[in-house]
Amino acid sequence: QHKDLILQIFKEIMVEPDFRDWSDTGICLQAYLRSADRDAAEVIAWAKERRFPVTVRLVKGAYWDGEVIRAYQQRWPVPVFTRKADTDAQYEKVLRTLIENHQFVHTAVGSHNARTVALAIALARENRLPRRAFEVQMLYGMADDLKAGVVQQGERLRVYAPYGDLIPGMAYLIRRLLENTANTSFMRQSVRPDSDTAQLLAPPKVLVDAPKFKVGGFQNVPDADFAVAYERERFDRALAEVRSRLGQTCYPVVGGKTQTDVPTAPVYNPADRSQVVGAWGVSTTALAGRAVEVARTAWSEWRQTPATKRAQLLNRLADLIEQERPILAAWMVYEVGKTRREADADVSEAVDFCRYYAEQMVRLETDAQERDVPGETNSYRYRSRGVALVIAPWNFPLAILTGMTTAALAAGNTVIMKPAEQSSIIAAQLMRLFDAAGFPAGVVNYLPGRGEEVGAHLVSHPGVNLIAFTGSLAVGNRIIAEASILRPGQRHLKRVIAELGGKNAIIVDSDADLDQAVVGVVQSAFGYSGQKCSACSRLIVHASIYDAFIERLVEATRSLAIGDPTRPETYTGPVIDEEAYKRIRETIADAKKSHRLASETDVAHLRGGNFIGPTIFVDVDPQSKLAQEEIFGPVLAIIKAKSFDEAIEFANSTPFALTGGLYSRSPGHIEKARDEFECGNLYINRKITAALVDRQPFGGYRLSGVGSKAGGPDYLLQFLEPVTVTENVQRQGFAPLPSELD
Ligand code: NAD
Repeated sequence: QHKDLILQIFKEIMVEPDFRDWSDTGICLQAYLRSADRDAAEVIAWAKERRFPVTVRLVKGAYWDGEVIRAYQQRWPVPVFTRKADTDAQYEKVLRTLIENHQFVHTAVGSHNARTVALAIALARENRLPRRAFEVQMLYGMADDLKAGVVQQGERLRVYAPYGDLIPGMAYLIRRLLENTANTSFMRQSVRPDSDTAQLLAPPKVLVDAPKFKVGGFQNVPDADFAVAYERERFDRALAEVRSRLGQTCYPVVGGKTQTDVPTAPVYNPADRSQVVGAWGVSTTALAGRAVEVARTAWSEWRQTPATKRAQLLNRLADLIEQERPILAAWMVYEVGKTRREADADVSEAVDFCRYYAEQMVRLETDAQERDVPGETNSYRYRSRGVALVIAPWNFPLAILTGMTTAALAAGNTVIMKPAEQSSIIAAQLMRLFDAAGFPAGVVNYLPGRGEEVGAHLVSHPGVNLIAFTGSLAVGNRIIAEASILRPGQRHLKRVIAELGGKNAIIVDSDADLDQAVVGVVQSAFGYSGQKCSACSRLIVHASIYDAFIERLVEATRSLAIGDPTRPETYTGPVIDEEAYKRIRETIADAKKSHRLASETDVAHLRGGNFIGPTIFVDVDPQSKLAQEEIFGPVLAIIKAKSFDEAIEFANSTPFALTGGLYSRSPGHIEKARDEFECGNLYINRKITAALVDRQPFGGYRLSGVGSKAGGPDYLLQFLEPVTVTENVQRQGFAPLPSELD
């Protein structure tokens, strides 16, 4: 994935004055990459200009399954050939090119395939390569007969061996083992009793080969691949464009009209508090009342609009969001301090919600169950509920707001969007796109405002039928209580969907792959400064690996780049605002009094923004405040467990049940976690954040919320009223109309 960058870095360094004439240096190309022939051509062209040769070590490719799996999971095109024969053919093609250009590049043939090696030697001789320009490379302990043959031929052979600790090196050895025992491998085929020498040495058969993705049905949209230069440049341009638009005011929009007659509140960049991002119009309770009326009026037509038409509008919205991907992400960088990747993924999730709920609603309508019997018809259909109030948090400022709103709309409700104060500008961008997509006026209304004022007013408003809330436990609990009160004039009970906080744990078992666990824990705990409801804030580590694991985790955490989120290298940006900054700082100061600090990244040099360095406490009592209460910042509490059973017990010891994770290689423990780990989303041997719509429907239970999972098959049902109609059709005929009787 980093190939282009690595090639670029190599080329840049090797023309620096200190290295320009170095010829004992080289780079490896992997023939299984579809781009290998182009890459080789580029290296040759560059070496020609440099005027001193470099070595190109040509191999078939080392991480085939990793490359394929990663591409499928990220919804990116598969960068490698999916048939071995195509790789072999590409290898031979690149080999020829390299050897023909031996004045500029030296060739190192990294292969244990007799045909490949023989061909390479033949080509080298045909092109009269000087000895210096050609060598064969083979692994110590493997294919010794072939090595002997190469030496007999008088060719240069370099034997190499892995070096270092056995346990970390095990992964390498296992990979080798898998590679050489694969049915398509030359080594494996050559030792089969029925192996045929002529066939083994035959030229590879090239097949037409294209990656196959699932067709039809919902597909997650891919994130931008920032390894591609075009995507990086596009993002840079978007940042510049948004920077030029900073300072505007986003006013409420009710019934399609912008409401400028309200006070305004400024928004500052969390990474640089002196920079004004813009301002938003603070909705009044009077305006909120009008919004309810407008939404109710708009509902009478919207509810009659066929689901297919509503779905069409939602799909159009998805297209518009996708078109504006880098712009919307850039707004998130400035307004809520998300890094590029995090902001980009937020946009993907928003697109997914639109398309997923559009498809789900059409399916619900067409799949309505029929239970007719002779003489009686029964139908089970859905109706919309009315006016939906959507109250969103700031931490997924586009995705969560879009998700709750589009679900309500798909189901035929009209919506009042009350975004979080901290992300009202991004919400205004979404409102603009609702308009552009062609949603009728009043169907979606944008009402930025203070939660405790306009939010609370709307929650208790008798004209609101449904409340979709995502946010903290404290506010959610209050909303559930307020919404349960029947107010004068109210003719329905309010439905509340509340997605709340978490205190999520990852267990690292005694036999876990520590390389994998370190990366996963760092990403889960410190991605977006721990400001995700799914973030890991408790780490439960088995005593037998406790010290070793913590040492590595601390080192990995210290290596994170913290700072300005507009910069591509930044992994962790600021926390959302000064209030959060103070609260988290106090929590850390308080925790230092009673817990052992293992690491706190110093961010004193980052001035003017709400920066908090990732902080890790160890030997934390699982019942302490630090291990029980949501902090919503880059603070990790590590707990030691004597056994796996105790680890599960600790994991389940908070009142939340949102996400959880396990790193283990024991099938028995994995099974136990599946059954007993109390959480809505359990992740095994991977990070616990970044759930995808449809693939990992998201949401928790206990104090983590009430409602079915967002982005899952049951979510829309909460926005609908099911209605059963039974008709007795036995001998009813049709009675004449009264007018016909006269
Ligand atoms: P918050 O509860 O402070 O605010 C959420 C929203 O509620 C905001 O729009 C706010 O203006 C509004 N609000 C505040 N007081 C209100 C009141 N009295 N009546 C009506 N509305 C009111 O949460 P936040 O700081 O924006 O977000 C962080 C919290 O959200 C964390 O606890 C996090 O775990 C949770 N969260 C949960 C999920 C999930 O899917 N479970 C997802 C994201 C965030």
